[in-house]
Amino acid sequence: MTTFYHSTRSTEDSVTSKQAILTGIAPDGGLYVSDALGEKTLDLATVCAQGFHDTARLVLGTLLPDYAEGELAACVDAAYGAQWDTEAVCPVTPLGTDWLLELYHGPTCAFKDVALQMLPRLMSVARAGDGRKIMIVTATSGDTGKAALDGFAGVEGTGVTVFYPHGKVSDIQRLQMVTQLGGNVAVCAVRGTFDDCQGEVKRIFADRALAERLAARDVVLSSANSINVGRLAPQVTYYFDSYAQLVRREAIKMGDEVTFCVPTGNFGDVLAGYFAKRLGLPVRRLVVASNANDVLTDFLTTGTYDRRRDFHKTISPSMDILVSSNLERLLYYASDGDCELISSLMAELAEKGVYTVPDRVMGEIRSLFSCGSATDEDTRRTILDTWRELDVLIDPHTAVAKHVLDEVPADGTERVCLSTASPYKFCSDVLGALGVTTDGMNDFACMDALEQRTSTVAPPQLSGLRAGEVLHDDVCDRERMGAFVESACARVFL
Ligand SMILES: *Cc1c(COP(=O)(O)O)cnc(C)c1O
Repeated sequence: MTTFYHSTRSTEDSVTSKQAILTGIAPDGGLYVSDALGEKTLDLATVCAQGFHDTARLVLGTLLPDYAEGELAACVDAAYGAQWDTEAVCPVTPLGTDWLLELYHGPTCAFKDVALQMLPRLMSVARAGDGRKIMIVTATSGDTGKAALDGFAGVEGTGVTVFYPHGKVSDIQRLQMVTQLGGNVAVCAVRGTFDDCQGEVKRIFADRALAERLAARDVVLSSANSINVGRLAPQVTYYFDSYAQLVRREAIKMGDEVTFCVPTGNFGDVLAGYFAKRLGLPVRRLVVASNANDVLTDFLTTGTYDRRRDFHKTISPSMDILVSSNLERLLYYASDGDCELISSLMAELAEKGVYTVPDRVMGEIRSLFSCGSATDEDTRRTILDTWRELDVLIDPHTAVAKHVLDEVPADGTERVCLSTASPYKFCSDVLGALGVTTDGMNDFACMDALEQRTSTVAPPQLSGLRAGEVLHDDVCDRERMGAFVESACARVFL
């Protein structure tokens, strides 16, 4: 069995990809990376001749070499089955002279499904070796919680507990969570803010006494965080698969370079594009698009990462992030695996909130990555223009990327804009951008209005929530969250 992964901050301990997926984060706080990345590239002719599922098996087999072929095949079939509303899984469609890569056809209508439908299956296979049961605990400000619930629901040997701030998520987000089916899921509203929920989840993970009581019943707590190798690897698939789709549409010839523009928050999605390039995909540039929280744009421009700035609440909330954790992996590869450098940069970030990357490393990064940002005003105008001029309805996150792509000078390549959420997940802001006032309208009234205004149809995953039965109505104080997790473990793993 190959030990393949080690921390970005030290090469001392190597683990298998199964161990990396079960552990999530390395013990020293670093992220798991593999020095073999790119040693073996994918055969482009093979990728272009096959569909999403075969490419997913190929990508995962390369990045997670200790999984057996049969194990991965079963994971792929279960993760990308009938819960997707199109057989293509992640279809590419025209966007004027560019292309849209639609990543929102999964059960929760956002791109996190691509990874969170797969991660639970990978964890379940990995844990089968030692018999332990895994309870995922996560705090959500709205979107990730549902994607985690849906991904883990019904997966053998796992459970999932989600906390959200009471009264502080949208009607649709709340209904997505409280109607979740499955004997291994638990959902609880917390009287407090998202930060309260997240702070308490961190405390729960650090609670030794709780860990011991759970260990006595063979249960361990884990997170489904976006730094997990098991979330990153599945995202590489759609870069290769979208390229194959463009070849089949005769938009490009095999071997031509393509540019991707990615709405970026925690840097997971765009990092998967970097992995695809290392695995042999002809990528000209990766364009990092930010909203008003433009810490990454500043970083790519100046070489200094500085999180000491105001946090902006925007209409693209999944990109409202000041620390893009997965950037650490890019720094590792761009510095040729300089663990000492990464350790010291991350220590500076923790202590001072700022670090500066040496020029040689920035040169390497800038040779591939471009960047740009969009204000809420830019975002709204882009939604309106894209609808009026191209007849394509996009959500605010996608609009950030489209705005940035429009600002980047054309480079002669075909360009793909990643679309990370259905516009129907953000009905009110999309309507507002189209010039419709939404005062006093609830989410479902907005959904109806958006359908009427655009003659498009809301995805049944969202419109069906109206009739959904509320299965989870627990509300607790922050102090009771630990007890809630413990009783959920007792119920799920009796
Ligand atoms: C999470 C998310 C993003 C950001 O992706 P990262 O991998 O964190 O960069 C963008 N758009 C939507 C809709 C998301 O949910």
